[in-house]
Amino acid sequence: MSFKPETICIQGGWQPKKGEPRVVPIYQSTTFKYETSDQMGRLFDLEDSGYFYTRLQNPTNDCVAQKICDLEGGVAAMLTSSGQAANFYAIFNICEAGDHVVCSAPIYGGTFNLFGTTMKKLGIEFTFVDPDLPVEELNKAFQDNTKAVFAETISNPSLVVLDIEKFANMAHEHGVPLIIDNTFATPINCRPFEWGADIVTHSTTKYMDGHATCVGGCIVDSGNFDWEKYGDKFHGLTTPDESYHGIVYTQRFGKAAYITKATAQLMRDLGSIQAPQNAFLLNLGLETLHLRVPRHCENAQKVAEFLESCDKVAWVNYSGLKSSKYYELAQKYLPNGSCGVISFGLKGGREESIRFMDHLKLAAIVTHVADARTCVLHPASHTHRQMTEEQLIEAGVQPDLIRLSVGIENAEDIIQDLKQAMEA
Ligand SMILES: *Cc1c(COP(=O)(O)O)cnc(C)c1O
Repeated sequence: MSFKPETICIQGGWQPKKGEPRVVPIYQSTTFKYETSDQMGRLFDLEDSGYFYTRLQNPTNDCVAQKICDLEGGVAAMLTSSGQAANFYAIFNICEAGDHVVCSAPIYGGTFNLFGTTMKKLGIEFTFVDPDLPVEELNKAFQDNTKAVFAETISNPSLVVLDIEKFANMAHEHGVPLIIDNTFATPINCRPFEWGADIVTHSTTKYMDGHATCVGGCIVDSGNFDWEKYGDKFHGLTTPDESYHGIVYTQRFGKAAYITKATAQLMRDLGSIQAPQNAFLLNLGLETLHLRVPRHCENAQKVAEFLESCDKVAWVNYSGLKSSKYYELAQKYLPNGSCGVISFGLKGGREESIRFMDHLKLAAIVTHVADARTCVLHPASHTHRQMTEEQLIEAGVQPDLIRLSVGIENAEDIIQDLKQAMEA
């Protein structure tokens, strides 16, 4: 039986049998017991599936990963310790030194640093492109060694809505998968696999957790990309893995090849596993995702309309506004709403933005976004501080941009707070 998102949020991933706990239990154990040495040996050869060490896999995590997998409509998923780890693994699972990735330029600042600086040191090159360019222009970014295309459904913090179909077709024309960071939209508002994306990542730290309690990430595979068709490019999946006695992931695991490799190799060697306690708390967040996300959008729409009507506001970017450059794309990909995050600038620029933020009472200045509490951030002074003015513009972050993450408090209270800070 297949269920709708609301049901998956509540019951997905864990269907207890007779006498088992109703709520997904926390398997607070590093290790798992077997009866014979041979049983254990078979696990290490990937001959049998099962748990042996929580650096690689843990049953609590797998239940929660399965819930997110079902929400996205994928075939396999894994949790990671953070969204950063998810994006790193998603790329590193199919790229190595000498490879290249085409990446949408407006992305989260942390991802921009990871890709442009740290992964560059590993020998993986990224070409950052303006996602609004026509395909003929974007095609020029591809090279013989390109292995993937990466973008965010709704970019953080510039709120660019991606034309996912355009990107998926383009990636597939070049024989590579499209990886989408779906953190801001969540599968409640957009399921990128339905538009041709191959792999989805999440910072579960944001709406999925929803309460700002746990840093975490997730990778989901649609199972749709044909790795064997482009076997030369993705030899890590299609040729023998000597660290597992020569198994070939695509042959042995079929549609689960990508996630199995990420677990068996990357988790084994790098160990960015999510703590089972955090997975448990993430699951509590997921149980109300379908209730919270629409409320975030409803509140954000009201706040965005208020901001647009204010004299002191220079510009507002929210794809739910008719004035938005991304209104049409949002109607197509995000018909039920985009997210709770709005960006805007005040007349008076950077200084005025900072002064305004210091006067807010209900909205807190925090390095966070997309949780139940309204918060603000000035990316140029905070998350994107390491970037040059030029990089900021490339990433779609104007120096005066205020990122307002609208929570699920009363919308009138949030608007009152913004009003008094503007007048102060
Ligand atoms: C926050 C964020 C990340 C990084 O996630 P962490 O959980 O903070 O490591 C990646 N992508 C997007 C879109 C984000 O908002």
